[in-house]
Amino acid sequence: MARQLDSATREALLARVRFYRDLGLTEFYRRPVDPTLAAQLAVEEEPEILGAPSLRLPLGESAGEQPESIAQPILSQEDQTIPPRKPIPTPPQVAAAVPEADHTAALQIIREEIGDCTRCALHKGRNKLVFGDGSPSARLMFVGEGPGADEDAQGLPFVGKAGQLLNNMIVAMGLKREEVYIANVVKCRPPGNRVPEPEEGATCSPFLFRQIDVIRPQVLVALGATAATYLLGTRQPLAGLRGRVHSVRGTQLIVTYHPAYLLRDPRQKKEAWADLQIAMRELGLKAPAKG
Ligand code: URA
Repeated sequence: MARQLDSATREALLARVRFYRDLGLTEFYRRPVDPTLAAQLAVEEEPEILGAPSLRLPLGESAGEQPESIAQPILSQEDQTIPPRKPIPTPPQVAAAVPEADHTAALQIIREEIGDCTRCALHKGRNKLVFGDGSPSARLMFVGEGPGADEDAQGLPFVGKAGQLLNNMIVAMGLKREEVYIANVVKCRPPGNRVPEPEEGATCSPFLFRQIDVIRPQVLVALGATAATYLLGTRQPLAGLRGRVHSVRGTQLIVTYHPAYLLRDPRQKKEAWADLQIAMRELGLKAPAKG
């Protein structure tokens, strides 16, 4: 069984993983560890991991304790085989347009089809499924990654701290939250707010695409790398996707930072605002005068 990390190490490791995630690096591979070498290293010296003593991780005592030894430096040749990355599914064909008067009913049909979903493992930890929220005829739609703890408790997207920041962003654009639509790539909370596994994203994202096809917003905003990856059907670092208009499903797509990342690094808010201004330009919106 894996040994528990102490809370400081765990926090430091989580912060580092979030940092990589914000950069669009979302997949990590754990290489098998040679148990003899691991035991030898454990006796000799704890390796320095991630460059800082505070981030040192305890070394597992056997190959079965790999979470603590993710940075094992010495591997046999055969152990170095890293499994191929799982492909991101190609987005499905765009569905036929639904008359605006029928948008609410069409979304309701999708919701009913999802039902009390057990299609992927995420349902096991779910309190409430988070379908989406906002105007069925929105001109602007935001897509996040997946519900967090607050969203899972309330059944609504972006209602926690990141949601408050998103609300402020929406207001800064001269809009009300009720005027836009907000949904996520996956509708159930990934444990510990981890990035959805490719299988989970592949299972759930077709429902997101159907929501988009009903609403047909003029502009989609992908909040963070996971949303951008599934909407575009390709993995690319966020840096290369921001600052321009993409075209998906007959809609313009702008990619920006996830609000949770902006809470961790508020210096990037300026960059995010520049992205939102691209969206505003496409929508013909002017920022409200400061009162
Ligand atoms: N983060 C997301 O990506 N989506 C939410 O709904 C909340 C936080």
